[in-house]
Amino acid sequence: MSQKSVLITGAAGFIGSHLCERFVDDGYFVIGIDNFITGNPDNLADLMRHGSFEFRRADACVVTEDEIGTKCDIVMHMAGIASPVDYVAFPIETLKVGSTATFNMLDLANKWGSKFVLASTSEVYGNPLVHPQVESYFGNVNPIGPRSMYDESKRFSEALTTSYKNKFGLDTKIIRIFNTYGPRMRPNDGRVVPNFIVQALNNTPLTVYGTGLQTRSLCYVSDLVNGIVQISNSDFRGVVNLGNPNEMTVIQIATAIRDLVGSSSEIVFMPASPDDPERRNPDISIAHTHFNWLPKIALEDGLKFTIEYFANLATNKQDS
Ligand code: UDP
Repeated sequence: MSQKSVLITGAAGFIGSHLCERFVDDGYFVIGIDNFITGNPDNLADLMRHGSFEFRRADACVVTEDEIGTKCDIVMHMAGIASPVDYVAFPIETLKVGSTATFNMLDLANKWGSKFVLASTSEVYGNPLVHPQVESYFGNVNPIGPRSMYDESKRFSEALTTSYKNKFGLDTKIIRIFNTYGPRMRPNDGRVVPNFIVQALNNTPLTVYGTGLQTRSLCYVSDLVNGIVQISNSDFRGVVNLGNPNEMTVIQIATAIRDLVGSSSEIVFMPASPDDPERRNPDISIAHTHFNWLPKIALEDGLKFTIEYFANLATNKQDS
């Protein structure tokens, strides 16, 4: 039987690099694409030595079939600028990777007759008025707000993906990824888990934005990857939330991280981020019913793995 192949955009990113590894481990031939706007070549160091992995440094908006070189069975569009700090710094790139790059990847999948998997986001629900968030909820997004470049780019990419499915019969899967954490997030990524871990390790204050009573539900990266792989390999065509329903306030997240690090950091309150969603919690009934998927990694374990990763990064930096 010939080796199955998958094209993954955003291959050097946090989630993209874990997915590349998993597909290689599962026997696939993987072609990864990244332009390193937020991706990190270090995330691919081990993969680069593997015979079933090839990397193209390219922009998913313009990369051509010739540059990719191999027709793939699955096209996974994981590229995106997902941290609020980054998408505010790169608003146009954020909109382009959701629009132009999604067109490009859908055209390739359509030409090749491949499955198409879109990394979407819980941000399509905006500041949700329905709890927990079910896939049928349309969301509450401010189209000209400070997060709109990300939210609307993903909403557009979902509409585009759905249009290719309806118009051309493409086999498409849209995965709405909720807050995910784990090794390979960048220390300066700006998101809550890396910020609090780095601050706790340095014994500097943990910066809680706003009241800290806003909630998030944190999923460990290996749980997410298990779900994405299952959905990608299936014949399911539709939209699925993937996330851990364990909803916590930001203050609870800060306290949990500080306790696990054993840090003496105090918690300080900073101005709220504008349009910051007040609550976020995935309804995962579809993932559970169709794929028997449930997150397995307890927060304490996932945080320990992630703290260890950041502690090692800091040690290696000192040594170099
Ligand atoms: N947050 C915080 N301190 C930080 C970073 C984030 O209080 O140093 C809050 C942020 O305001 C939001 C939540 O943590 O309410 C999650 O933010 P993150 O940037 O991780 O991702 P989001 O879920 O907002 O996309």
